[in-house]
Amino acid sequence: MYFEVGDKIKMKKAHPCGSHEWDVLRVGIDFRLQCAGCGHQIMVARTLVEKNCRGVIHAGETEYHKPEAKKPE
Ligand SMILES: [Zn+2]
Repeated sequence: MYFEVGDKIKMKKAHPCGSHEWDVLRVGIDFRLQCAGCGHQIMVARTLVEKNCRGVIHAGETEYHKPEAKKPE
């Protein structure tokens, strides 16, 4: 799946603060995500992000959509 720094993602499971939304701060084997609700930062394996991601907003977009397999043209 295609993600990059600056994306917002919506995860299946809510953070304890109640938010499902995260800002992508770093991508790689592990991602660094910041909770949009409380600002808490976590490191999480890319495999878990791909499994649990329910939507993504890339820079300049306004609505969540399914993650693309590859970088959009
Ligand atoms: Zn939170």
